[in-house]
Amino acid sequence: MIDLRSDTVTQPTDGMRAAMASAPVGDDVFGDDPTVNALQARIAAQLGKEAALFVPTGTQSNLCGLMAHCQRGEEYIVGQMAHTYRWEGGGAAVLGSIQPQPLVQAADGTLSLADIEAAIKPDDAHFPITRLLALENTWGGQVLPMTYIEAACKLARSRGLNTHLDGARLFNAAVASGGPVNAALLDICQHFDSVSVCFSKGLGAPVGSALVGSKALIARAHRIRKMLGGGMRQAGVLAAAATYALDHQVERLAQDHAHARLLAEGLAGLPGVRVVPPQTNILFVDLAPEKAPGVVQRLAAAGVACTGLYKLRLVTHLDVSTADIHRAIGVLRQHL
Ligand SMILES: *Cc1c(COP(=O)(O)O)cnc(C)c1O
Repeated sequence: MIDLRSDTVTQPTDGMRAAMASAPVGDDVFGDDPTVNALQARIAAQLGKEAALFVPTGTQSNLCGLMAHCQRGEEYIVGQMAHTYRWEGGGAAVLGSIQPQPLVQAADGTLSLADIEAAIKPDDAHFPITRLLALENTWGGQVLPMTYIEAACKLARSRGLNTHLDGARLFNAAVASGGPVNAALLDICQHFDSVSVCFSKGLGAPVGSALVGSKALIARAHRIRKMLGGGMRQAGVLAAAATYALDHQVERLAQDHAHARLLAEGLAGLPGVRVVPPQTNILFVDLAPEKAPGVVQRLAAAGVACTGLYKLRLVTHLDVSTADIHRAIGVLRQHL
């Protein structure tokens, strides 16, 4: 089976498993885990922030961030199809008592500046207090334009809002810039008060995300993480995997991006099949209505696993080789 359902399906590599097995550990709830502490210091510096918090999942990382920014009854502005709004079980509202103010996104994932402006509530007892703008990069595998990030964050700041980036696939965005990765990371993150990154997606770690921001923000998030049940003990075993991923599995994301482009090219010209050119490692395929029913099951039976909630979604990752991509193209051309 060629598993293109998500970049979360990767197996820890031998090198990663060895790093996990030999990691020095301690009780991280006491702040005693040297591997966690080193990872937190490293990812904070890499993303240009004062402090970081290692957490089990991206969902918890985003929620710690949202709750550290927003008090009960305050609101955050977010995309209608953004992960924190649509795909995290409504946690901001359920667990944080934070009101989301979702806005329709353009095809490239951006929220219009005019819509953001209009959604910011005046200081009036009728309204919730608008506290935060949350963006997502990459969104659906698309890289938010730098000029847009600058303009949206500038607008938010000028109106007294904080800014949060759901950067689950931030490293894909940085690699896609084509320049030096660390410079691209800093370029993007400088505009945000907090950023969440996942180690368990394209970077290939089995578990783990980090929230970065100011010392004061991370201190609040640390308290919230405990409340959410995210205080882990000898978590250095997991932090070692994330550190290994940062050391060895960042630059190779370019390979995943090339594989997604190869897949897109391989599907070109099929009748009733429209491929959205991929910018990173996620390829969306629109199918003519007559082709859609049962397609995910047919492809799985033929050896290609993918998902298809709104469109067919194919994700390249560490455990998919160039040969796998060529095989997948054959299967897709036969069964689409
Ligand atoms: C996967 C993902 C998350 C959450 O990560 P989990 O570790 O699955 O909770 C958040 N945002 C985006 C954009 C994601 O793709």
